[in-house]
Amino acid sequence: MPLIAITKCYTTISNQALQVLSGCAPLDLKIELEIEVAKQIKIIKKEEIYEGFQNFDCEELMKPWDTISIGWIYFESPDTGHEIYTDGSKINNQVGAAYVYYYNGTETACLIRLGNQNTVFMAEVMAISSSIDYCIDKNIRNSKVIIDSRSTLMAIKSTEEKRRIIIETKKKLKLTKIHFQWVRAHNGTVGNERADALAKLAASKDQIYTEFGPSEAQVRYSGKVLLATKWQERWNNSAKGSWTKKFFKEAKFNRLHGDFYYNQVLTSHGVFGAHQERLFGKEGACPCGEQLETIEHILLKCKIWGKERDDWSKIWLQKDISDLVFYSPFKKSATDILKKLMSSRLTS
Ligand SMILES: [Zn+2]
Repeated sequence: MPLIAITKCYTTISNQALQVLSGCAPLDLKIELEIEVAKQIKIIKKEEIYEGFQNFDCEELMKPWDTISIGWIYFESPDTGHEIYTDGSKINNQVGAAYVYYYNGTETACLIRLGNQNTVFMAEVMAISSSIDYCIDKNIRNSKVIIDSRSTLMAIKSTEEKRRIIIETKKKLKLTKIHFQWVRAHNGTVGNERADALAKLAASKDQIYTEFGPSEAQVRYSGKVLLATKWQERWNNSAKGSWTKKFFKEAKFNRLHGDFYYNQVLTSHGVFGAHQERLFGKEGACPCGEQLETIEHILLKCKIWGKERDDWSKIWLQKDISDLVFYSPFKKSATDILKKLMSSRLTS
């Protein structure tokens, strides 16, 4: 029972409450979804087209001696040669890519809208790849492609890169004499600002031109969202842990409540009579005469602990316990009472 060790709870506490307190999703759900995610990732890496979409993360096996690394230099200033600026953008949940070609004082632009689920990185790569196609098509040699996306340039430079779409882009580059340059975004470079504006315009177009399937990261993310949803459903429907549910309506990852004393408040599993009676058939009454010694009774009502409540704000006593449990001055006082209660039970 490793969760018990992490949360330092009484061993009688329900699994569901333990999972919520520790921020660890139920293991069976986790395994089930991890298998599903692994399956999907395998497909998108292997299949070029899946369910009608091109997979951006589809991989190509490259022999080590076939790997290509294409570097870049820093952009300094515009000149009279062939210049192409590219950009990708996400705006109002729509994604667009664009390139703009300058030569002899004329401008030629291309706008591509991608699917709404597609990433800016995909748009950046799409813009570059299309601009290279344009150069090949128009037989333009010795052009510069000026890009503000560092991550795209890194992918093109990397010899570890396995994604087919990027490898294909590199292969096309070998056919032309294109040089890459990096320009800082939003730095007042006219062509870069223009490509940025055009990419935003591309995103607002009516028709989607190219749509990629989900990336590996997106598949992982959806898996995590689904796990959270299924866990939440299970927690909502769980008959157990109703006391803990009062304080933790949401099942969340990476939560950790590991305080031995305070977890008795959060779980209602502890030394007090109500719990001892319910689970172990022991005497459940409070020594003060109250029929059932609940955690609420001890903290908010019981005469025995009246002195400990002396310096409490009077407002606390009018509140529901769920409004108090995460308030640190209350937490401190409640822990003090619990410590005293425990030592009195251990010595009696
Ligand atoms: Zn009492």
